[in-house]
Amino acid sequence: MKKEYLNRREALKIMSVASGMLLSAHSVFADENNLLSRPASHKKARIVIAGGGTAGIIAAARARRSAPNAQIVLISPNELHLYQSGQLFVAAGLEKEQKYLRKSVDLLPENVTWLKEKVISFDPKHNTLKTEKSGEVFYDILIVALGGEYDYSAIEGLSADMIGKKEIASVYLNDTIKGTARGAKSTNAVFDKMLHSAKFAKKPLRVLFTEPNTPVKGAGTSLSLLFLYNSFLKKIFANKNVHFTFVTADTKLLSLKSFDEVLRKEVNKHKNIDIVYEHDIIAIDSDKKRAYFKNRDEKKEFEYDYIHIVPPLKAVKAIRESSLAILKGSQKGWMEVDEKTLRHKIYENVFGIGDIVGLGDKKSGAAAQHQGIILQDNIAAALEGDKLKYSYDGYTASPIVTSYGKVLLAEYNEKKPLATFILNPYESRRIWWYLQRYFMPWAYFNLLMRGMM
Ligand SMILES: Cc1cc2nc3c(=O)[nH]c(=O)nc-3n(C[C@H](O)[C@H](O)[C@H](O)COP(=O)(O)OP(=O)(O)OC[C@H]3O[C@@H](n4cnc5c(N)ncnc54)[C@H](O)[C@@H]3O)c2cc1C
Repeated sequence: MKKEYLNRREALKIMSVASGMLLSAHSVFADENNLLSRPASHKKARIVIAGGGTAGIIAAARARRSAPNAQIVLISPNELHLYQSGQLFVAAGLEKEQKYLRKSVDLLPENVTWLKEKVISFDPKHNTLKTEKSGEVFYDILIVALGGEYDYSAIEGLSADMIGKKEIASVYLNDTIKGTARGAKSTNAVFDKMLHSAKFAKKPLRVLFTEPNTPVKGAGTSLSLLFLYNSFLKKIFANKNVHFTFVTADTKLLSLKSFDEVLRKEVNKHKNIDIVYEHDIIAIDSDKKRAYFKNRDEKKEFEYDYIHIVPPLKAVKAIRESSLAILKGSQKGWMEVDEKTLRHKIYENVFGIGDIVGLGDKKSGAAAQHQGIILQDNIAAALEGDKLKYSYDGYTASPIVTSYGKVLLAEYNEKKPLATFILNPYESRRIWWYLQRYFMPWAYFNLLMRGMM
């Protein structure tokens, strides 16, 4: 793809978005003195954070402020830290992976002890957890930020090592335990091959996108990838040689109806994109290039030339098999927390943040960002034995690329849009493209990871 340079007007726009965010978006930026309902606690407690991804580092930065005298211990094995949202731009061939990687040690707040290992089990009745090397670790307050685990093998005939081979792509494939990723680069290689073969194809290539019936991280990412590659094809061959079918287990493209409607209209603008709802992928035959789906009692199969798969997601084993997990229902296995305070429903000194909490489809860095602000306040309150006053409103965000250079900035909870900015949230805009591609990676590492956003 051609390198993109900003003209003066566009650069000014970005600067105004950035400064507008910094100065006026009060729901996004909060430090220890504003917005929070109470001052820090000066107790000398021991706060243990399990997990050092997006949510774990946010929690460490926020806890440092809630309790300046506390001893904070973070337990996580990943030497590297990946800004996962950036995988979309790597998969599209627009950015290099290096841009989105940092050493974990450089992101840890001061005076946080890092145990570079895995948590194996939790014993919340005795305020302890077990790790693979250090054994038993005691806590006064525990914050769980362990994220989810991809389960490619839940699809019969598929395993994670097949991604990037036989025309199978998955931008998601990353190793959160190590902090490394290969899904984005291999997806780019598979789709580059697709672009080249489209050039010579006698009949339209069939490109299948699938979404499972489990929660999805960064909702809308695979739709963004579809729209992006469709833009590239449009530029090169007026689209005539590729037909996309997006098969989702869900009844909607995005959980909030008003954004779902906007996206359906967006899809309808393209004759070469079909959506199939309520079909869950159950198996794949990579030699015959067929994918099998189920819809209630019915089965359906699709032939494809190229396929992109969003992996089924489940809670990490240490939580799934612990007494901190939800025991039944659609959120089974994910961590049980009160949806407002983020405190465990039984164990009052245990909190959750990020993808691990069983709060439906809010598996986004944006949700973790908002949850971090709540935690800062509620942990100080918990240490002082006070009532928890600050409430999470269910905020999440899905920035969806609707065409090359345009993004729909969908910010919402289960009931309504929750736009940070005064602009109409239902319009795709170039300014949000710049925000996602240029401003957010910087803001992620320099503000969010420091608890300043
Ligand atoms: C391709 C892609 C695009 C995305 N796009 C967006 C976007 O545009 N906007 C957005 O807001 N969000 C997006 N997301 C989602 C966002 O990246 C995640 O929601 C966010 O990273 C979740 O953070 P987390 O800390 O909960 O989980 P993770 O970041 O997955 O971190 C989990 C941590 O737990 C550690 N861990 C795991 N098991 C153990 C154990 N047993 N013991 C100790 N530590 C353990 C891991 O090493 C890791 O450090 C995207 C995600 C992907 C994959």
